[in-house]
Amino acid sequence: MSANNQPLTKEQVFQLAKDKQLYAGNLIEGASSTRTVENTTPIDNSVIGNIADATAEDVDVAVVSAREQFNQGEWRQLPPAERKRRMQKWARLLETHLEELAALDCIDAGKPITECLNTDLPATIETFDWYAESIDKVFGKVAPTGSDALSWIIKEPIGVVSVVLPWNFPAQMFAWKVAPALIMGNSVIVKPAELTSLSAYRMVELAYEAGIPKAALQMVCGRGEIVGAAIGQHMDIDMVSFTGSTEVGRLFLTYSAQSNLKEVVLECGGKSPQIVFEEAEINSDMIDNILSAAFWNMSENCSCGSRLLVHSSHKQQVIKQLIAGLDSWKLGDPREEAVSIGPMIEKAHFEKVKGYLDKTLEEGGELVAGGKIHDTLGSGWYIEPTVFDNVDPQMSIFKEEVFGPILAITSFETEEEAIKLANDSSYGLAASFYTKDLKQAIRVANQIQAGTVSINGFSEGDITTPFGGYKQSGFGGRDNGLEALEQYCQTKTIWVVN
Ligand code: NAD
Repeated sequence: MSANNQPLTKEQVFQLAKDKQLYAGNLIEGASSTRTVENTTPIDNSVIGNIADATAEDVDVAVVSAREQFNQGEWRQLPPAERKRRMQKWARLLETHLEELAALDCIDAGKPITECLNTDLPATIETFDWYAESIDKVFGKVAPTGSDALSWIIKEPIGVVSVVLPWNFPAQMFAWKVAPALIMGNSVIVKPAELTSLSAYRMVELAYEAGIPKAALQMVCGRGEIVGAAIGQHMDIDMVSFTGSTEVGRLFLTYSAQSNLKEVVLECGGKSPQIVFEEAEINSDMIDNILSAAFWNMSENCSCGSRLLVHSSHKQQVIKQLIAGLDSWKLGDPREEAVSIGPMIEKAHFEKVKGYLDKTLEEGGELVAGGKIHDTLGSGWYIEPTVFDNVDPQMSIFKEEVFGPILAITSFETEEEAIKLANDSSYGLAASFYTKDLKQAIRVANQIQAGTVSINGFSEGDITTPFGGYKQSGFGGRDNGLEALEQYCQTKTIWVVN
């Protein structure tokens, strides 16, 4: 990014954006096209530079290099301790460039800079360190065959793996998939979301500086329907790990069925419930947690707690405290450190979220907070954190993923009713609930259909814990934790017959 490859400050990144100098390109071994398109920022919809607009042929070139690299073994046959060393070196380089990468995500995705600096990038670096450390601590098994045979079961890398990423946590989603896929010894082809390629580009450049062979980690930038589809349908990609919408996730299963039966792991959408039981203590911690679950990252968050189910006895008090708590959620230019709500990612998405505001009013939702659009600010795609009461389970806002700052409140009378409402969704990514009653906590946690359940707080877990969804929130595996390594390897049994 800078001439002498020194890390940039956030002010320098913001200036480069003003000068239209931010660039993300393909990083493909061998020839590839140099076609680019303009890249804009959701902050004010201005052009900030260019990004590559790859073709299906570019994907082909990348796959040939990736396959050659895998067969020849330059990366996968390195001793695990050496792969670890290089990954750790990469993590240190990412640390040195933390401010630059945070500013790239801020400008590219409209994410609050404070979040990028203090949450996204530290978590990204931790992910690289954690997977680097894991690799020489994972062992195979010996089967109990009896003394006339010896059988051992080992894990091998799959081969050519492609990771297809969403735009909501650009650096972090890159880390969640690239770190385990690469450390297992695969050749990895990254396809970032077309709206947010900047940090991925910089991170891959730094990987090369750390000694990751070029053909072991390549990047193809471009549109989903072209590059994503070419990856999904490719006959020589062995596995795709996808994070994004359930709608596009479904396509990857079709692509696989229509091509080479590549393995597919999907991390998709959600419509996560938060429950306040009669047995809960209403306090400011709980309110802060509910607001974070609902509005963190402009609610452009797969595990966003967008449905609040409240026991009727607590409803008025909870609403009153939510409204008061929203005072500290400052909406504005995400480059400012005090801001916690920036713009929606793009105009089409803004229109979609606005559509839900209008529809919820039409369908009988009662607006109790927010609801305003700040159309004179920057791009005009700024929506206040909004709370609707009296949301009926038949309403669209109860069922559909909005991916924007709208919290829907529904009241209930009994524990059984709350569980039924919580599970009344085609999604099952996350859930959180509040109670002081331990027996109730255990009972309810066991009945909620979701990949992550948080009691008396909101959490997605951390790098040590697997993350993924039940029902239409996911398919085929989990991100994070040692479970994620399973996605990126295959199992081989070797028999020695006596
Ligand atoms: P998206 O599905 O539109 O795009 C995701 C990726 O798929 C992008 O790289 C895109 O270019 C590509 N793509 C789009 N159309 C394609 C096509 N026809 N064929 C092949 N590839 C295609 O998702 P998004 O809008 O970038 O991200 C938001 C979604 O991601 C939300 O639904 C959110 O819940 C989900 N998400 C899930 C998790 C999780 O861990 N479960 C994490 C983050 C985001």
